[in-house]
Amino acid sequence: MNSTRELFFRHLAQTSETPLAIEISHAKGVYLYDADGKEYIDLISGISVSSLGHSNQKIVQAVSDQASRYMHTMVYGEMIQSPQVKLASEICSLLPENLNSVYFVNSGSEAVEGAMKLAKRFTGRPEIVSFKNAYHGSSHGALSIMGEEEFKTAYRPLLPQVRILDFNNVSQLGNISEQTACVIVEPVQGEAGVIEATPEFLSALRVKCCNTGSLLVFDEIQTGMGRTGSLFAFEKYGVTPDILLLAKAFGGGMPLGAFISSQEIMSVLSHNPALGHITTFGGHPVCCAAGLTSLEIIVADKLSEKAYKNGKLIRRILSHSRIREVRGDGLLLAVDLGDEGLVKKVIEMALEKGVLVDWFLFNPNSIRIAPPLIINDEQIETALNILLECIDRA
Ligand code: PMP
Repeated sequence: MNSTRELFFRHLAQTSETPLAIEISHAKGVYLYDADGKEYIDLISGISVSSLGHSNQKIVQAVSDQASRYMHTMVYGEMIQSPQVKLASEICSLLPENLNSVYFVNSGSEAVEGAMKLAKRFTGRPEIVSFKNAYHGSSHGALSIMGEEEFKTAYRPLLPQVRILDFNNVSQLGNISEQTACVIVEPVQGEAGVIEATPEFLSALRVKCCNTGSLLVFDEIQTGMGRTGSLFAFEKYGVTPDILLLAKAFGGGMPLGAFISSQEIMSVLSHNPALGHITTFGGHPVCCAAGLTSLEIIVADKLSEKAYKNGKLIRRILSHSRIREVRGDGLLLAVDLGDEGLVKKVIEMALEKGVLVDWFLFNPNSIRIAPPLIINDEQIETALNILLECIDRA
């Protein structure tokens, strides 16, 4: 009989030549366990997904209850399904007034696709603006607005009429015009290695979009749901988008995304033509039940405040001559070692010692620290002391 490992390499499409290839047995809290019983502390949350850690009992119960009531009944938008209605109502109650209409989808990329279509349809304009080093997903549309050439070239032709400007450069905002349907931006660029927008930049962007009638879209797929120390990163800037994108932690560990806007803007998807965006599984009731439970816990347990406090603790611990800089707020942090080879070595050594960290897609010089929001002080100290030891020895 072939081992699961052998079958993984034979039958699972590979996306790199060096997958982590840890054979997962089970996961609980902030820990993953492999088939040999080795314990790994998870400092990346499956890339900013598992905010409540793994196998949270309340989420498991919500999934199980909903699965036994009903799973898929009909394509998105036809049936009244209480998990969708409750989650949409709850998330809207936590957002500014203009963000009051939720379109549920399956992933971050699909939320991006939905937002781009919505903006084109609402404004009747052809152009989309995004920023260098932005990551918005891997589907054709999302790839078109990716701000990093290396991943795009092999897949052209992509969407026409995309303009990519320098992030945090107010002087380039003059390129946004009455041809621009929308501007899509991450308030904190994740895959660029946690680069925060300056308050001046986001404010100027808001003003420019208002003046040109372009919709402002915030991609909070990675930063949302408490990760950066507030429920949404945009709250800290006091700038409100026309469309908000969520996914990753939004589903409480299940696949769920959303683009959220005003009823007025969203209403264009229902006519000329009807069914402006169609998705079979978007807003799956089991995923919405998990997402609702997760949101309730994030709010009740004040996990964004805890993330903020723990971000400070991590910054205090991570003092080392080889660390050039620690960027970010809350529990989305980049530890910049300024050297790709060193980063790779530290990640490998840490893994060996049972600490799971990672790099960033567009910033190989930095280590990603994005643990579940439920991580406690003792777990942080233990994991980071191992990481510091690896940085010392690498
Ligand atoms: N936007 C951002 C900011 C992301 O970080 C990601 C995923 N890393 C996406 C969009 C795409 O999400 P998905 O992988 O669910 O399509």
